[in-house]
Amino acid sequence: MQHSEVAPKFDLDLTQPEPMPQQSIDRATELMHTGRLFRYGETAPGELNDAAQLERRFAEMLGRQFAAGVNSCGAALFLALRSSGVRPGDKVLVNGYTLAPVPGAIEHAGAVPVLVEVTENCTIDLQDLVRKAIDSGARTLLLSHMRGHISDMDEVVGICAKHEITLIEDCAHTLGASWNGKLTGTFGAAACFSLQTFKHINSGEGGILVTDNEDLAARAILHSGSYMLYGQHAARPPESSFEKLRGRIPNYSLRLSALAAALALPQLDLLPGRAERMNASYRCLEQLLRSVAGVHVIERPAKEQFIGSSLQFRLPGLSGAQIADFVAICQVHGLGLKWFGATRMEGFTSRPSQWEYVANAKTLPQTEKLLATLCDMRIPPSMEEQHCRQAAQIITHALRHTMGTGDRGHAVPGANKSTVTKDQE
Ligand SMILES: *Cc1c(COP(=O)(O)O)cnc(C)c1O
Repeated sequence: MQHSEVAPKFDLDLTQPEPMPQQSIDRATELMHTGRLFRYGETAPGELNDAAQLERRFAEMLGRQFAAGVNSCGAALFLALRSSGVRPGDKVLVNGYTLAPVPGAIEHAGAVPVLVEVTENCTIDLQDLVRKAIDSGARTLLLSHMRGHISDMDEVVGICAKHEITLIEDCAHTLGASWNGKLTGTFGAAACFSLQTFKHINSGEGGILVTDNEDLAARAILHSGSYMLYGQHAARPPESSFEKLRGRIPNYSLRLSALAAALALPQLDLLPGRAERMNASYRCLEQLLRSVAGVHVIERPAKEQFIGSSLQFRLPGLSGAQIADFVAICQVHGLGLKWFGATRMEGFTSRPSQWEYVANAKTLPQTEKLLATLCDMRIPPSMEEQHCRQAAQIITHALRHTMGTGDRGHAVPGANKSTVTKDQE
């Protein structure tokens, strides 16, 4: 039988976001009629801008006292570092499996990223964390729950307490997810969320910082560009926290627009339904892929209540060139996968050894080995069981085809020789 006959065409566009709910469209239109797209204004007292309403909802949802909206999660991470006392030259621990804006936020704050290894399960390597905490003397850990993978938070919190490390969580993919019943975003001094199109709530661009620390919250709000209009925030610390800081906090103009907040607000009510649908697809795909020879799905701990907005799997038996082939074949069948092992940074995907501005970027052999064979599939809420079946069939077909090509892969341009050698060891 021809391979091309066994694999169907994938009939879902994984890059297609959900349409805006009608309520978002209505509210945005209403706002546009007023022209008040800037969150601050000399308005009647008691009127609450959409941005302030969104911040209040986030704080309530997470059970945290304060929230500050900004223009991206990357900006929120930068502000969390800056406002928690990180100074230029300070070292900041961060897991090596993360998205480029995360080490970028550390660099933005003038600080020095100290990359920490991750395990085969895509979570932070606790032993390496302890070792690097001691060796570097870093006093901050920026823990990125990359692609929704939540590290053992009991252990992480314990290590941070023991070594006097301030924990900041990157929750770009874990809005509504928990560790052992406790929501992510509630474990550290501050946590940051993303409202970017491919996260759980889509306002195009946007980020939210949450914290219970009055000083951190006041600094973040002032830094974000609130001028002296911080009184128009609802989830904010008391006046006295701002008074203490008057004139000492530069305005970085990282504001959340009222329009973005208007789009985001009605989506909060849709979160549980979206999470349920994505998790159903995740479990379905996971089960199907478990029975495909050569595919290793990432094991999820029982204590992790994740939101399956994407699924990662490893292809440990394949060389870099073969995985490049595999991804290309899937693409031919309409299934767009990402791969963390490509020779060059492509699209959204990169790995530590490609962040050349980071001093210890090339010292994470364990993480590089994982990422060399790690593939990634987005799971939009619109995905159905039939799509999961199609995806599994295409992956099976592409793998068979790739393995059948044997060593041919070595000749493929762009093949990563070092990866090939490593995988063959
Ligand atoms: C998307 C993402 C970010 C950055 O979010 P932006 O809002 O695009 O700045 C940070 N961390 C992770 C893990 C992400 O997935």
